[in-house]
Amino acid sequence: MQRRSVRLAESHAGSIVKKRRVTAASSSSSSSSSSSFSSPSPPSSPPPAPKKKPLSKVKKPKVESSPLRSLSSDPPAQWETVYNLIREFRKHTTAPVDTMGCERLAEEGVPDKVFRFQTLISLMLSSQTKDTVTSAAVKILQSELPGGLNLESILAVDEKQLDQYIKSVGFHTKKAHYIKQVAEILRDEHDGDIPDTIQGLVKLPGVGPKMGYLALQIAWKMNAGIGVDVHVHRISNRLGWCTTENRLPEDTRIQLESWLPKEHWREINPMLVGFGQVTCLPRGPKCGECPVRDYCPSAAVTVKKRKTVVKKEVVEDGETKIITVKKEEEEGDTKFLANHEPQLADAVETTKKEPLEW
Ligand code: SF4
Repeated sequence: MQRRSVRLAESHAGSIVKKRRVTAASSSSSSSSSSSFSSPSPPSSPPPAPKKKPLSKVKKPKVESSPLRSLSSDPPAQWETVYNLIREFRKHTTAPVDTMGCERLAEEGVPDKVFRFQTLISLMLSSQTKDTVTSAAVKILQSELPGGLNLESILAVDEKQLDQYIKSVGFHTKKAHYIKQVAEILRDEHDGDIPDTIQGLVKLPGVGPKMGYLALQIAWKMNAGIGVDVHVHRISNRLGWCTTENRLPEDTRIQLESWLPKEHWREINPMLVGFGQVTCLPRGPKCGECPVRDYCPSAAVTVKKRKTVVKKEVVEDGETKIITVKKEEEEGDTKFLANHEPQLADAVETTKKEPLEW
């Protein structure tokens, strides 16, 4: 039974994509206003119209109006070159996620169930919180809770005390409440373990798709979908890999999964998160030192403005003086080439603060 649910979860994202492709194909043949991402070319000459009525009425399949259909896209041009350049760059550039990301926070050598539980708690604490702060909070729980960080110690601890332990992370009071609720659900409904399906994980309070897919990857070693956080969302849009800038991260996941080979679904999260922490920053991306600036449609350039210095000779009280009447100098001004102003991506980051599922 458990093996079956694991298989189901592994094929979940794949089946969504397959379903989407089928739907998109039906749509393009029945409507001219299909997706702007893929439009199959029409046949060179239309087939002759049938003269006879069909003997029996064939009911046309109903095409569901699904947001997934409009989000599927063809692979962006040169994505592989850009992907490999960022991957190579990240091999030599250390970012906070590499040492303090949720993948690194569960303790080594603990039983598998405890490892998975610690991973889930780390992910819940990490929402809208810096890696350094999350890492410190997890370490406090691991060292301060009697018996360490595990299901039993979370069930036993008072919610207010738990809130105190994690007070450095964003929305700590809400998170303490969610963590207590999750512990009870895991005890009562999941035999004390974390669910091994995305459906089971996102049912838990305070757990959304990003955490769910990352939990499957880290805790269960299952590659069921891309974990899209603010960095993956922002950078994918800046690179032109997605057109979901003003939409939800779930839309970014769906669009990325429609063309990115599955073998990259796991590594793209830590790769882009680290890239976003050190180079493609939310505000003031360091485009000048970016390895993909020649390919990026959002690359910032420095525009030189020239100013002229005009000096004038004047005679005052028999003395000749030189005064400056107009001074212009060269100065740099950063401009973005495309419409991907970083503030737009930030707008999503800041306005989506209330739900803690990111
Ligand atoms: S060129 Fe600038 S905006 Fe584009 S990926 Fe690099 S840092 Fe980000």
